[in-house]
Amino acid sequence: MAEVSSAKSSLRLAGKVAIITGGASGIGKETVHLFAEQGARMVVIADIQDELGKQVAEFIGTDRCAYIHCDVVDEVQVKNLIQSTVDTYGQVDIMFSNAGIASPSDQTVLEFDISQADHLFSVNVRGMALCVKHAARAMVEGQVRGSIVCTASVAGSHGSLKMTDYVMSKHAILGLMRSASKQLATHGIRVNCVSPNGLATPLTCKLLDAGPETVNLIFSEYKRLEGVILNTKHVADAVLFLASNDSDFVTGLDLHVDGYYVSGKSELV
Ligand code: NAD
Repeated sequence: MAEVSSAKSSLRLAGKVAIITGGASGIGKETVHLFAEQGARMVVIADIQDELGKQVAEFIGTDRCAYIHCDVVDEVQVKNLIQSTVDTYGQVDIMFSNAGIASPSDQTVLEFDISQADHLFSVNVRGMALCVKHAARAMVEGQVRGSIVCTASVAGSHGSLKMTDYVMSKHAILGLMRSASKQLATHGIRVNCVSPNGLATPLTCKLLDAGPETVNLIFSEYKRLEGVILNTKHVADAVLFLASNDSDFVTGLDLHVDGYYVSGKSELV
């Protein structure tokens, strides 16, 4: 019996209720699996890819993982996501605001298409801000000392030779995180960012119009460590740290997961 309880307490998210936006795919999906493995009482996947999201939830088990359709751009849907999580599971301890899209082309500031930029900003900035706002409100109202983690990007602090709109959107996320971390500190709510560098996910495969092996090859030049290439598990591990009580005194941090990428080489972002 003593062994069982010590095994339970070693799980880093024991008893927690987490929401993961963009949890049907890529980094979000990897994090859903890791949170469930680490004892989360419930992991709620919020996404617009209904079939994929339901598959992930069913694979884990619907007593531990649920799928809720939520387009993060729509404030009503975001409010419903948070409210139904609170109503059904009691509270929100962790919000991993991760859903995002990338620029469809290599646009520099000279040619970037503002209407495409509007759409990208609506998902990457408006969507993330809405998720942070409504999760934080639920945490304050429920007196939960919660953790909010947003997915930014290494490109969000360095700029890039292309993808102007995407880079702008990720800079905005750092501003959101820095302000929210100050504003919510007195409530005991922590807000941090995880910033991956390029890695193979459906997002980058679509962007580069290539399969995961080719995408890994493209990225491997500067993200290889003794033969290992940066992957979604490396990012999920960092999210777990920020989401769990292991980082109880960490807030306002932009945690780079960049596979030994040298920050000065911003032309490679
Ligand atoms: P992905 O495409 O595999 O996953 C993104 C998920 O977000 C998808 O499931 C998608 O359906 C969901 N999504 C998109 N728009 C949505 C909306 N309006 N409402 C709800 N869900 C929506 O991509 P990924 O690489 O795992 O991306 C996750 C996050 O990581 C994004 O914010 C992305 O900008 C960021 N990021 C990725 C990389 C990379 O190289 N893959 C690098 C840095 C940052």
